[in-house]
Amino acid sequence: ALSIRGIHKSFGSSPILKGVSLDAEPGEFIALIGPSGCGKSTLLRILAGLETADGGEIKVANRDISTLKAAERNIAMVFQSYALYPHLTAAQNIAVPLVMRRLTRTQRLPFIGSLIPGQRKAIADIKRDVRSMAASLKIDHLLDRKPGQMSGGQRQRVALGRAMVRQPAVFLMDEPLSNLDANLRVHARGEIVDLHRRAGVPTLYVTHDQAEALSMADRVAVMIGGALLQLSPPRVIYDDPLHIEVATFIGQPR
Ligand code: ATP
Ligand code: MG
Repeated sequence: ALSIRGIHKSFGSSPILKGVSLDAEPGEFIALIGPSGCGKSTLLRILAGLETADGGEIKVANRDISTLKAAERNIAMVFQSYALYPHLTAAQNIAVPLVMRRLTRTQRLPFIGSLIPGQRKAIADIKRDVRSMAASLKIDHLLDRKPGQMSGGQRQRVALGRAMVRQPAVFLMDEPLSNLDANLRVHARGEIVDLHRRAGVPTLYVTHDQAEALSMADRVAVMIGGALLQLSPPRVIYDDPLHIEVATFIGQPR
């Protein structure tokens, strides 16, 4: 499970996160919504270790990970832009987290070029894991393509594959569908929920799309001005907003 306590963050003299606390059950899907600039991405970046908090505690499976570097946290993040490596193929992009974990520094170099003896097994294992990830995302036929040769939806699957392949303990997604067209977006919702169920790990999913939050999440967290004002099942958020700010935000036409 994921447990966040009293996360504070200021940029310069502006307080951005004002003591954010949240508990996610193992296997729970939480949608994080709130006005632009309220601090959603900042919270995710802090959880992933890409930004340091000024105070607070982050626990995964009861272990405090606040002081660990990003690479040492077993937390995967999918970005809006996908952030794929443009010079690597889909297969290599998906393999990157496994290569970083399973191969030593000197072993990593030939991953780009040819194999050196002694690491065939590790590389064969990585290739097998990449292929099985690709099969479950139905992108087997794209493995040799580079991001520039793929559609937005295909890139998004590769990004999901790269995030999932190392079996993270926590899954963070920052508007992963916002670059897809409306049809693809609706289709991808179901797929992400399926992937999440199979992975069975707590997931924080930032979205601007309230229909996404409503249809995908076990609970919806509403953040306004750097504070989590409500964390409730979707129906409760809509039927019984606890704060006028939540009601106003939910009621906004968009
Ligand atoms: P959006 O929905 O538009 O993505 P958000 O809720 O993700 O918004 P954040 O990106 O977390 O918002 O930003 C929260 C606030 O912190 C914004 O006012 C932003 O300008 C500010 N901010 C974010 N990163 C930095 C930074 N590195 N330096 C200074 N200010 C920052
Ligand atoms: Mg954001």
